[in-house]
Amino acid sequence: MVEWKLPKLQARVRFPYPAPTSNKAKPMALSPSRRCLREPVAEIFQAANHLSQAAEAHLAGHTSLAISLIKKADCPAIAAWTESLWGKTTPYNIRTAVPHLPPLLARGQRQPLRMPSTALQQQLLARDGYHCRYCGIPLIRKEVRVALQHAYPQAVRWGSTNASQHTALQAMWLTYEHVVPHARGGTNEVKNLIVSCWPCNGAKAQYMLEEFGLADPRLTPPCPSTWDGLERILPPAKKGPAGPRVTQHAQRVT
Ligand SMILES: [Zn+2]
Repeated sequence: MVEWKLPKLQARVRFPYPAPTSNKAKPMALSPSRRCLREPVAEIFQAANHLSQAAEAHLAGHTSLAISLIKKADCPAIAAWTESLWGKTTPYNIRTAVPHLPPLLARGQRQPLRMPSTALQQQLLARDGYHCRYCGIPLIRKEVRVALQHAYPQAVRWGSTNASQHTALQAMWLTYEHVVPHARGGTNEVKNLIVSCWPCNGAKAQYMLEEFGLADPRLTPPCPSTWDGLERILPPAKKGPAGPRVTQHAQRVT
């Protein structure tokens, strides 16, 4: 039985950098004041618990219970959180123009390889684990979601539009984020990549941390956690590596 304790939502809400003493000495746009564009809502963590219990039910052969729990995790409040980050009129992703940042590159000027290799993905998972390095929410890889889709197509909604996708699995979709965006000259080196949720990744898009006033997530160590991204439902050959871990009954460390 794999247990995962609900983390305190505010546990990681801290500012890696102190607020500037004066705007003149340090312009606001260059002074990171928040770790993510919007703090996650409690429903995401509740959904993670439901999905974790669904994984246990699945492994125990309790199909009906697994279906019920997966459906329970498909919560409208999570869609509202995601949409609040992606929307065109959202107050959460307002940007400030910052001088001297790398310009947007034409496609021909960017590095040809956009996605990190499989080996690099494994390296990032081993380092970062299965939590967003920005907002801290628990994450699930596409491979796990697809396995759930195949097992429970009646519970895992996954259409071609945002609105037709299971809200928790959409928000908790594990992606690999270029901190300096690929479109701004960011490389595929480990030092420029982090594990991130799809909402944070998609909302940041081709913009720099400084344009959002975001703290650099690479300066905060990955959060040890017992959350395994539901990798336990995959066959051994397809499982991702374990990330920073704590003992089963330990509290999440910040
Ligand atoms: Zn996130």
